This record gives sequence, structure tokens and C-alpha cells, in this order.
Amino acid sequence: MKTIEQIGAELQGYDPRALSASAVNDFLARLVEPITDTEDLGLFDALGRVLAQAVISPISVPPHDNSAMDGYAFSGAELRPDAPLVLRVVGTALAGKAWAGQVAAGECVKIMTGAIMPTSLDTVVPQELIQVTGDTVTIPPGLLRPGDNRRLKGEDVMTGQVALQKGELLTPASLGLSASLGIKTVRVFRQLKVAYFSTGDEILSLGEAPREGAVYDSNRYTVFGLLTRLRVKVIDMGVVRDDPALLEAAFTQAAQQADAIITSGGVSVGEADFTKTMMKKLGDVAFWRIAMRPGRPMAVGSIPVPAEHRSAVLFGLPGNPVAVMVTFLAFVRPTLLRMMGANTLAPPLLRARSTEAIRKKPGRTEYQRGTVSTAPDGSLHVQTTGNQGSGVLSSMVQANGLIVLHHAQGHVAVGDEVDVMMFWGAI
Ligand code: AMP
Ligand code: MG
Repeated sequence: MKTIEQIGAELQGYDPRALSASAVNDFLARLVEPITDTEDLGLFDALGRVLAQAVISPISVPPHDNSAMDGYAFSGAELRPDAPLVLRVVGTALAGKAWAGQVAAGECVKIMTGAIMPTSLDTVVPQELIQVTGDTVTIPPGLLRPGDNRRLKGEDVMTGQVALQKGELLTPASLGLSASLGIKTVRVFRQLKVAYFSTGDEILSLGEAPREGAVYDSNRYTVFGLLTRLRVKVIDMGVVRDDPALLEAAFTQAAQQADAIITSGGVSVGEADFTKTMMKKLGDVAFWRIAMRPGRPMAVGSIPVPAEHRSAVLFGLPGNPVAVMVTFLAFVRPTLLRMMGANTLAPPLLRARSTEAIRKKPGRTEYQRGTVSTAPDGSLHVQTTGNQGSGVLSSMVQANGLIVLHHAQGHVAVGDEVDVMMFWGAI
């Protein structure tokens, strides 16, 4: 792992007291390395994990040309543009077994969805389009082209083809695709382990009696939720009081148990507590002021675990509950995904029209909580969810995404398009 100093020297204009949001991600990309250890998992255990090896298909799916409809299979060459086609039904092809008969000109075979196309037939007329009289069917002209309603062998995946790429996050669709190939286990990167604790003497754990000036620890629960969505192993360490011995023990234990450590609180410039001192003592840590809102202060670095010749990555997030979530989504999540071996680190941004004017100062990235909805004309609109204070979680609860007002951007007028980072499966 590179040192903070080495990375700082690599990045042009690196200034820890004034970093843009994109410079933060550039920095973090150089700090961490992807996991290399792998394990084989059954499909039921693999959801949300990252493929360590491409899945190559041992078979073609579908394995044969087959019918996409319940109807009648015939040869498309018999279709005429201006005359109905009258065919005699000579058999029935059911799903699950091949129909063995031969078909001559002027003949067709009744066929079910998924049944193998009889030899020499290439087209299916759905049953609702035809007239049946006794054992003949009449197909009106102009409705079909040769090849219609037939699924081709291998149109989903061909034998030998890469069905799933290394680095893909396994979704419900990818589990289903693996299963369709007959593949029961997949090779994934081992699960990332992330330890988390809250700091601050004013922070109460749930169950403790309220006291003046104290607040309940909400960050423990938002971080737990955000990490759980990423399918990492969450090592929950609760609240650590502002005591050097306790903090030292917590950081040391977290580094030993985890690949990454997340803390919240105690990293802003005016902090009088021991969190920063302990980070500095135990690790190689930078204290940043990021040009963003919410979430300006953040500490980043590593804490060595000498016995194992490795370091744990440290993210010291600000204390304010919304700042924690925003810095997590903007920086921590993509970095953890990188460590997990994933090849997609951030969701695409959507464009939506702002239904209101938003004041924005150029020179910092602002993240506003918003709700994207579909307007009557079908276009996407976005509206902020009220009080945008960095401690106000209720406006985060109401939001389905973050409006990202980029570094150089100025005020937003009503109707202007803005970028939105949708929460998708991240929240
Ligand atoms: P700090 O970054 O430590 O100065 O904290 C900034 C603000 O966030 C203060 O109002 C803290 O009380 C609050 N805060 C810090 N940690 C937590 C937490 N775990 N849960 C809820 N609020 C917190
Ligand atoms: Mg504090």
C-alpha cells in the first residue's frame, strides 16, 4: 500500500486543505488495492458478491431452436404476400421432447412454447392469429415473416462464450443466468471485512438514558445499513469513548480484524478529542478539508498490522449523520467496491429537471437530498426534500437520490437539468 505522502506527490496540485470531490476519488483509487483471495460459493450464497473469474458457458442457451409461442410451426418459405396459407396439421410438438416426424409442403405441426422446432420448420404462427377447421389451419396474409416467433439456439448464450465478466457484482439476473447454464457454484472474491465505530463523548448508545447535550448514535445504524447493502462482513464496534486507551484498543482491534475501518466524528479542524491524535499515532493518515457540502472534514489513510504485513484502510468520516451518508456514498462506497474487485464503482447519474431554484456556490460539490419523479409529460423531475442541514436525517429518509451540483456549477434555476445519483440498491 502506498503512503499518503507518495500519493500526494503523484497527484498534481494535491492540497489536503482544499480537495475537490473528484480529487478525493483519484486519491482513494491510488490508496487501495483489490482483494485477491477467492472462494467458491453456491448460487444462493453469491448474491451481491463479486465474480473473481469470468463464467464461460459450457452449453448454448437455448440448446435448440424452439417456439416462442403456442401455435403452429411451418416453413416460412410457403408464405405468400397476397393469399391466405392453408396448412394441414400432421402432429403436435410438446415442450421437453423433440417431435420426430417429417413435414412435407402444405403441412404444419401444432407446437407449444419452448418446444423444439421440428426439422425444416422455421416459423410459428400464434394460435390466436389463425382459423382452425378440422385438421387444417388458415393463416391470413401479411401477418408474418419467415422466422417469426422462433427462438434461435444460443441466442442468449453460445457455448464457450463469456456469460458473466470477472468483476461483475452478482445480481438476481446473473444468478439466474448461471443457473440457466447449469452452473451451480461461482468463484468470487472473498468477502471484504469492514469494522465500524462511532466516536464522541456526547454519543449515546441505544438503551442508555438520555442526558443533556447527548445524542443517540444514529451513524452506527446508517453505516451498518450501507455496509450491509454492499454485502461486506460488518464488524460493529459500537461507540468508543473519547479516552486514549479505549481509542487505541479500538483502532488496533479494528485493524487486526478488518480490511477497512470506518469511524465517524472527531475529525474536524476544531476537534478537541483524541480521535485525530490516535489516528496520527497509529497510522499514516491525512486530514482533509474537502470542497463539498455536506461533509467537509474527512480523514483517510491506513493503519498497519505488522504481524500480517498488511494495513487496514481507514476512513474517518465526519460526525454529522447526513455528512456520514454522503461521504460514504461519494467516496467510501466506490473505494470499498474497488477493494472488493468490482468493475463498476458508481451508478450512472440521471438527468432530471429541478422543480425549484437552488442556490449553489461554484468551487465546491454540493449534494442535495431530492426525490426524482416522473412528470405528466414523462420527463424526470427532481425536488429537494426540505431541510438540508447536515444533521437532518428525515430529509434523507424522504429522498430517493442525491442531486449532485458539481464543483464548478453555479445557481440552479427552475427547470434546469441537474445530475442525480439515485440510491438504487445503495440505500
Ligand atoms: P464531529 O464531527 O465529531 O464534530 O460531530 C459533528 C456533529 O455530529 C455533532 O453534532 C455530533 O454530535 C454529531 N455526531 C457525531 N457522531 C454522531 C453519531 N454517531 N450519531 C449521531 N450524531 C453524531
Ligand atoms: Mg465530536
